[in-house]
Amino acid sequence: MRSHLLNDLTAEHYRRSVTEGVERVAAKLATTDRPFTGVTVDALAPRIDAIDLDRPLGDTGAVLDELEEVYLRDAVYFHHPRYLAHLNCPVVIPAVLGEAVLSAVNSSLDTWDQSAGGTLIERKLIDWTAARIGLGAGADGVFTSGGTQSNLQALLLAREEAKSDSLADLRVFASEVGHFSVQKSAKLLGLGPEAVVTVPVDHDKRMQTVALARELERCRADGLVPMAVVATAGTTDFGSIDPLPEIAELCAQYGTWMHVDAAYGCGLLASLKHRDRIAGIERADSVTVDYHKSFFQPVSSSAVLVRDATTLRHATYHAEYLNPRRMVRERIPNQVDKSLQTTRRFDALKLWMTLRVMGADGVGRLFDEVCDLAEEGWRLLATDPRFDVVVRPTLSTLVFRYVPAAVTDPAEIDRANLHARKALFASGAAVVAGTKVHGRHYLKFTLLNPETTAEDIAAVLDLIAGHAEQYLGESLDRAS
Ligand SMILES: *Cc1c(COP(=O)(O)O)cnc(C)c1O
Repeated sequence: MRSHLLNDLTAEHYRRSVTEGVERVAAKLATTDRPFTGVTVDALAPRIDAIDLDRPLGDTGAVLDELEEVYLRDAVYFHHPRYLAHLNCPVVIPAVLGEAVLSAVNSSLDTWDQSAGGTLIERKLIDWTAARIGLGAGADGVFTSGGTQSNLQALLLAREEAKSDSLADLRVFASEVGHFSVQKSAKLLGLGPEAVVTVPVDHDKRMQTVALARELERCRADGLVPMAVVATAGTTDFGSIDPLPEIAELCAQYGTWMHVDAAYGCGLLASLKHRDRIAGIERADSVTVDYHKSFFQPVSSSAVLVRDATTLRHATYHAEYLNPRRMVRERIPNQVDKSLQTTRRFDALKLWMTLRVMGADGVGRLFDEVCDLAEEGWRLLATDPRFDVVVRPTLSTLVFRYVPAAVTDPAEIDRANLHARKALFASGAAVVAGTKVHGRHYLKFTLLNPETTAEDIAAVLDLIAGHAEQYLGESLDRAS
């Protein structure tokens, strides 16, 4: 069994095993003709149920054969140009290489004595990101598992910085299309059920700053404490970016922590064409970035950045066995002092490899391509009478619905759109997402694949219309 431990004696076994796995995935990538097979839970579950985990196969090749049956064959493939659903990106090869290296070396980024150079690489990427944002010389941050954790940590710091004796008095402001992790964080942080005040959005799904100003004023008048405003730079559904400069002004006026949730919009930090769309982000007290959304990085790769490094002390605890206080005096860089996690992956290496091979411009060009593609898609939708499209994209999502001229019942239109999404998924020909707008069912494309073309978008729209029409036709038959 020792032959399975990665060490000096097994280097050759390691090379062969990993190569075998890489060969399978490479073959898969080369032959995948649809983003999904359309497999159902009922078809897949028995295959996995049938495997006895207490009877190992021993042989890597046999296990890879089995993996083909239980996973690889029916996985949802984000690299396919007709995967248009969620905020998942195709990944860049330098990052996948980084992933292979970091899991083999298995550094843990909590303390210097478990990572050495990894710690410095992560710190350099944090400094690089903070500089791209424009947070100034006092900035810092740490890699996290994702935007949810980044938002949680940012709000923890904001809570600790807020001057209040009572958690029940704290208020957090976010737009009605902000991410649900804001609500989750408020709950985890012990704030009251009324803590998150949702601010309405305008036509373009951007926070209405007039409404924000009104809510901040009301908060103050009620003797409550405005703990933080969460501005979203790239809402999950619409890619809309809240008016950051105006929000920054209001935060300054009310002495409120400004958090920018740029989980999605952070790709603009590398953009060559659209960087100005997140102007104002440099005024944030904290920023969430998800490299695994718009920097083409494998899950997970995310960070939280802060303007004032000293605020990270709110996440600092010392343990004698790990990061005793004296290490701070000795200036030993222990990243655990800044993190909610203890043992932590060296995710930063993926971004490092990416920047060293492709450069930031390489990433920015890819993101610019998908933003431009979304603009083309919007034009297709806006000129197609079969569809109603919600907002002109700022990033790379399109929210729309099929609206047949002959059908006036909105509930029936809802059902047709829901059916189209399901039928498309079951066919595997494309994967699209869905959401609700003003209580009605819409469909959503999240475009993060530069390989997707306007022709792909047009073809998928035809498929959607076809499924919806078929549903409506059958529905008529049912009625008569
Ligand atoms: C995706 C997303 C998050 C959550 O990030 P995870 O990496 O999925 O945890 C937070 N905010 C916004 C705006 C997002 O789009």
